[in-house]
Amino acid sequence: MPESTDHPEPLPVAPAWAAHVLTLFPEMFPGPLGVSLVGTALHEGRWSLAAHQIRAHGLGRHRTVDDSPAGGGAGMVMRADVIAAAIDQVRAAAPSLPAIYLTPRGAPLTQPRARQLADGPGVILLAGRFEGVDQRVIDGRALEEISIGDYVLSGGELPAMVLLDACVRLLPGVLGAADSLQEESFEGGLLEYPQYTRPREWEGHAIPDVLLGGDHKRIAAWRRAEAEAITAARRPDLRRR
Ligand code: SAM
Repeated sequence: MPESTDHPEPLPVAPAWAAHVLTLFPEMFPGPLGVSLVGTALHEGRWSLAAHQIRAHGLGRHRTVDDSPAGGGAGMVMRADVIAAAIDQVRAAAPSLPAIYLTPRGAPLTQPRARQLADGPGVILLAGRFEGVDQRVIDGRALEEISIGDYVLSGGELPAMVLLDACVRLLPGVLGAADSLQEESFEGGLLEYPQYTRPREWEGHAIPDVLLGGDHKRIAAWRRAEAEAITAARRPDLRRR
Protein backbone atom coordinates (compact mmCIF):
# COMPACT_ATOMS: atom_id res chain seq x y z
CA MET A 1 0.00 0.00 0.00
CA PRO A 2 1.41 3.46 -0.86
CA GLU A 3 2.39 5.59 2.10
CA SER A 4 -0.05 8.31 3.02
CA THR A 5 1.17 11.82 2.21
CA ASP A 6 -1.47 13.49 4.37
CA HIS A 7 0.97 13.95 7.24
CA PRO A 8 4.44 13.97 5.69
CA GLU A 9 7.44 13.96 8.00
CA PRO A 10 8.78 17.50 8.48
CA LEU A 11 11.79 18.19 6.27
CA PRO A 12 15.07 18.26 8.17
CA VAL A 13 15.75 21.89 9.02
CA ALA A 14 19.31 23.26 8.85
CA PRO A 15 20.46 24.46 12.27
CA ALA A 16 19.72 28.17 12.60
CA TRP A 17 22.53 30.72 12.51
CA ALA A 18 23.39 31.07 16.19
CA ALA A 19 24.30 34.27 18.04
CA HIS A 20 25.58 34.21 21.62
CA VAL A 21 26.23 37.53 23.36
CA LEU A 22 28.21 37.77 26.60
CA THR A 23 27.10 40.89 28.42
CA LEU A 24 26.46 42.47 31.80
CA PHE A 25 23.10 43.62 30.44
CA PRO A 26 21.31 40.64 28.85
CA GLU A 27 18.02 42.48 29.33
CA MET A 28 19.05 44.78 26.43
CA PHE A 29 18.45 41.83 24.04
CA PRO A 30 16.81 41.28 21.66
CA GLY A 31 15.82 44.98 21.88
CA PRO A 32 15.83 46.40 18.35
CA LEU A 33 16.74 42.95 17.00
CA GLY A 34 13.27 41.75 17.99
CA VAL A 35 11.41 43.94 15.48
CA SER A 36 11.05 44.32 11.71
CA LEU A 37 12.81 41.94 9.29
CA VAL A 38 15.48 40.78 11.70
CA GLY A 39 12.93 40.26 14.48
CA THR A 40 10.61 38.33 12.19
CA ALA A 41 13.54 36.14 11.18
CA LEU A 42 14.27 35.54 14.88
CA HIS A 43 10.67 34.53 15.56
CA GLU A 44 10.68 32.30 12.47
CA GLY A 45 13.79 30.50 13.77
CA ARG A 46 16.08 31.59 10.90
CA TRP A 47 18.56 32.62 13.57
CA SER A 48 18.78 32.18 17.34
CA LEU A 49 19.93 34.60 20.00
CA ALA A 50 21.14 33.86 23.53
CA ALA A 51 22.30 36.67 25.83
CA HIS A 52 24.49 35.31 28.63
CA GLN A 53 25.05 37.15 31.91
CA ILE A 54 28.80 37.56 32.47
CA ARG A 55 28.13 38.17 36.15
CA ALA A 56 27.07 34.54 36.52
CA HIS A 57 30.83 33.88 36.43
CA GLY A 58 31.64 36.76 38.79
CA LEU A 59 33.65 36.26 41.97
CA GLY A 60 32.51 36.22 45.58
CA ARG A 61 29.30 37.29 47.19
CA HIS A 62 29.06 40.38 44.96
CA ARG A 63 29.81 38.45 41.77
CA THR A 64 32.62 40.86 40.95
CA VAL A 65 33.63 41.01 37.28
CA ASP A 66 36.13 43.89 37.26
CA ASP A 67 39.08 45.38 39.07
CA SER A 68 41.29 48.46 38.92
CA PRO A 69 43.78 48.74 36.05
CA ALA A 70 47.26 47.39 36.65
CA GLY A 71 49.67 50.35 36.58
CA GLY A 72 46.97 52.76 37.78
CA GLY A 73 44.63 55.06 35.92
CA ALA A 74 40.94 55.76 35.70
CA GLY A 75 38.11 53.26 35.61
CA MET A 76 37.92 49.50 35.92
CA VAL A 77 38.93 46.57 33.72
CA MET A 78 36.98 43.34 33.17
CA ARG A 79 38.89 40.44 34.72
CA ALA A 80 40.51 37.82 32.47
CA ASP A 81 39.45 34.88 34.67
CA VAL A 82 35.80 35.93 34.74
CA ILE A 83 35.60 36.62 31.00
CA ALA A 84 37.43 33.39 30.15
CA ALA A 85 34.96 31.37 32.23
CA ALA A 86 32.04 33.02 30.40
CA ILE A 87 33.59 32.38 26.98
CA ASP A 88 34.59 28.81 27.79
CA GLN A 89 31.08 27.91 28.88
CA VAL A 90 29.54 29.11 25.62
CA ARG A 91 32.36 27.65 23.52
CA ALA A 92 31.86 24.24 25.11
CA ALA A 93 28.29 24.26 23.78
CA ALA A 94 29.12 25.93 20.44
CA PRO A 95 32.75 25.06 19.60
CA SER A 96 32.55 25.95 15.90
CA LEU A 97 31.55 29.60 16.35
CA PRO A 98 34.09 32.43 15.93
CA ALA A 99 34.48 34.54 19.08
CA ILE A 100 34.61 38.30 18.64
CA TYR A 101 35.30 41.09 21.12
CA LEU A 102 33.64 44.38 20.13
CA THR A 103 36.14 47.15 20.82
CA PRO A 104 37.06 50.54 19.36
CA ARG A 105 40.58 49.11 18.97
CA GLY A 106 39.37 46.42 16.57
CA ALA A 107 39.41 46.19 12.80
CA PRO A 108 36.53 48.21 11.31
CA LEU A 109 33.41 46.15 10.62
CA THR A 110 32.89 45.91 6.86
CA GLN A 111 30.21 44.48 4.58
CA PRO A 112 32.56 41.70 3.36
CA ARG A 113 33.28 40.63 6.97
CA ALA A 114 29.55 40.70 7.79
CA ARG A 115 28.93 38.52 4.73
CA GLN A 116 31.64 36.03 5.75
CA LEU A 117 30.16 35.77 9.23
CA ALA A 118 26.65 35.37 7.82
CA ASP A 119 27.94 32.53 5.62
CA GLY A 120 29.24 30.72 8.72
CA PRO A 121 27.43 28.97 11.58
CA GLY A 122 27.03 32.06 13.79
CA VAL A 123 29.04 34.12 16.30
CA ILE A 124 29.96 34.50 19.95
CA LEU A 125 30.16 38.21 20.81
CA LEU A 126 31.76 39.71 23.89
CA ALA A 127 30.33 43.09 24.86
CA GLY A 128 32.75 45.01 27.04
CA ARG A 129 32.02 47.65 29.70
CA PHE A 130 34.13 49.96 31.85
CA GLU A 131 37.63 50.47 30.32
CA GLY A 132 37.40 47.17 28.47
CA VAL A 133 38.81 43.69 28.97
CA ASP A 134 42.14 42.39 30.32
CA GLN A 135 44.43 41.88 27.31
CA ARG A 136 45.37 38.35 28.43
CA VAL A 137 41.91 36.96 27.77
CA ILE A 138 41.78 38.61 24.33
CA ASP A 139 45.07 36.88 23.46
CA GLY A 140 44.51 33.68 25.42
CA ARG A 141 41.11 32.96 23.86
CA ALA A 142 42.19 34.26 20.41
CA LEU A 143 39.33 36.74 20.20
CA GLU A 144 38.90 38.61 16.92
CA GLU A 145 38.60 42.34 17.67
CA ILE A 146 36.04 44.34 15.68
CA SER A 147 35.10 48.02 15.92
CA ILE A 148 31.91 49.59 14.60
CA GLY A 149 33.50 52.99 14.10
CA ASP A 150 35.94 55.59 15.32
CA TYR A 151 34.06 56.73 18.41
CA VAL A 152 33.72 55.35 21.92
CA LEU A 153 30.41 54.01 23.24
CA SER A 154 29.72 53.14 26.85
CA GLY A 155 29.38 49.41 26.18
CA GLY A 156 29.65 46.69 23.57
CA GLU A 157 25.95 45.83 23.48
CA LEU A 158 25.01 48.33 20.76
CA PRO A 159 28.05 47.32 18.64
CA ALA A 160 26.99 43.66 19.08
CA MET A 161 23.50 44.57 17.85
CA VAL A 162 24.96 46.45 14.88
CA LEU A 163 27.09 43.46 13.90
CA LEU A 164 24.16 41.05 14.32
CA ASP A 165 21.81 43.20 12.26
CA ALA A 166 24.41 43.47 9.48
CA CYS A 167 24.79 39.66 9.41
CA VAL A 168 21.21 38.50 9.93
CA ARG A 169 19.75 40.54 7.06
CA LEU A 170 22.13 38.63 4.78
CA LEU A 171 20.85 35.20 5.87
CA PRO A 172 18.81 33.33 3.26
CA GLY A 173 15.13 34.23 3.31
CA VAL A 174 15.44 37.21 5.67
CA LEU A 175 15.04 39.95 3.04
CA GLY A 176 12.17 39.65 0.57
CA ALA A 177 13.92 40.55 -2.66
CA ALA A 178 17.43 39.11 -3.04
CA ASP A 179 18.07 41.77 -5.68
CA SER A 180 17.89 44.54 -3.14
CA LEU A 181 21.09 43.19 -1.58
CA GLN A 182 23.09 43.14 -4.80
CA GLU A 183 22.84 46.87 -5.49
CA GLU A 184 23.27 48.09 -1.94
CA SER A 185 26.00 50.38 -0.70
CA PHE A 186 29.40 48.65 -0.38
CA GLU A 187 28.50 45.86 -2.81
CA GLY A 188 31.11 46.04 -5.58
CA GLY A 189 32.99 48.76 -3.69
CA LEU A 190 30.43 51.46 -4.44
CA LEU A 191 27.94 53.51 -2.45
CA GLU A 192 24.38 53.20 -3.68
CA TYR A 193 22.89 55.51 -6.34
CA PRO A 194 20.12 57.93 -5.26
CA GLN A 195 16.62 56.48 -4.85
CA TYR A 196 13.29 58.16 -5.70
CA THR A 197 9.61 57.30 -5.42
CA ARG A 198 6.22 59.03 -5.78
CA PRO A 199 5.20 61.80 -6.01
CA ARG A 200 6.71 62.48 -9.42
CA GLU A 201 7.28 66.10 -8.42
CA TRP A 202 7.86 67.26 -4.84
CA GLU A 203 8.49 70.87 -3.73
CA GLY A 204 9.51 71.74 -7.28
CA HIS A 205 11.94 68.81 -7.65
CA ALA A 206 11.18 66.19 -10.28
CA ILE A 207 12.36 62.60 -10.41
CA PRO A 208 15.15 62.36 -13.06
CA ASP A 209 13.50 61.66 -16.45
CA VAL A 210 15.70 58.65 -17.16
CA LEU A 211 14.10 56.73 -14.27
CA LEU A 212 10.62 57.21 -15.71
CA GLY A 213 11.39 56.25 -19.32
CA GLY A 214 11.29 52.48 -18.84
CA ASP A 215 14.60 51.92 -20.69
CA HIS A 216 16.31 49.48 -18.31
CA LYS A 217 19.71 49.73 -19.97
CA ARG A 218 19.74 53.51 -19.67
CA ILE A 219 18.51 53.29 -16.08
CA ALA A 220 21.29 50.83 -15.18
CA ALA A 221 23.92 53.06 -16.85
CA TRP A 222 22.59 56.17 -15.05
CA ARG A 223 22.60 54.38 -11.69
CA ARG A 224 26.14 53.10 -12.22
CA ALA A 225 27.40 56.59 -13.12
CA GLU A 226 25.67 58.11 -10.07
CA ALA A 227 27.09 55.40 -7.79
CA GLU A 228 30.59 56.02 -9.12
CA ALA A 229 30.28 59.80 -8.78
CA ILE A 230 28.97 59.68 -5.22
CA THR A 231 31.62 57.15 -4.19
CA ALA A 232 34.40 59.25 -5.72
CA ALA A 233 33.11 62.34 -3.91
CA ARG A 234 32.37 60.83 -0.51
CA ARG A 235 34.42 57.65 -0.12
CA PRO A 236 37.36 57.46 -2.52
CA ASP A 237 38.92 54.97 -0.07
CA LEU A 238 36.25 52.37 -0.95
CA ARG A 239 37.31 52.28 -4.59
CA ARG A 240 40.98 52.02 -3.69
CA ARG A 241 40.22 49.07 -1.42
N1 SAM B 1 38.84 52.21 27.12
C1 SAM B 1 38.40 51.71 25.85
C2 SAM B 1 39.20 52.33 24.73
O1 SAM B 1 39.62 53.48 24.88
O2 SAM B 1 39.40 51.68 23.68
C3 SAM B 1 36.92 52.00 25.63
C4 SAM B 1 36.02 51.20 26.50
S1 SAM B 1 34.32 51.51 26.18
C5 SAM B 1 33.97 52.79 27.33
C6 SAM B 1 33.53 50.12 26.87
C7 SAM B 1 33.19 49.02 25.89
O3 SAM B 1 32.35 49.51 24.89
C8 SAM B 1 34.35 48.40 25.15
O4 SAM B 1 34.99 47.40 25.91
C9 SAM B 1 33.69 47.85 23.92
O5 SAM B 1 33.17 46.55 24.16
C10 SAM B 1 32.53 48.80 23.68
N2 SAM B 1 32.75 49.78 22.60
C11 SAM B 1 32.82 51.12 22.73
N3 SAM B 1 33.00 51.73 21.55
C12 SAM B 1 33.03 50.75 20.62
C13 SAM B 1 33.21 50.76 19.21
N4 SAM B 1 33.38 51.89 18.51
N5 SAM B 1 33.17 49.57 18.57
C14 SAM B 1 33.01 48.42 19.25
N6 SAM B 1 32.86 48.36 20.60
C15 SAM B 1 32.87 49.50 21.29
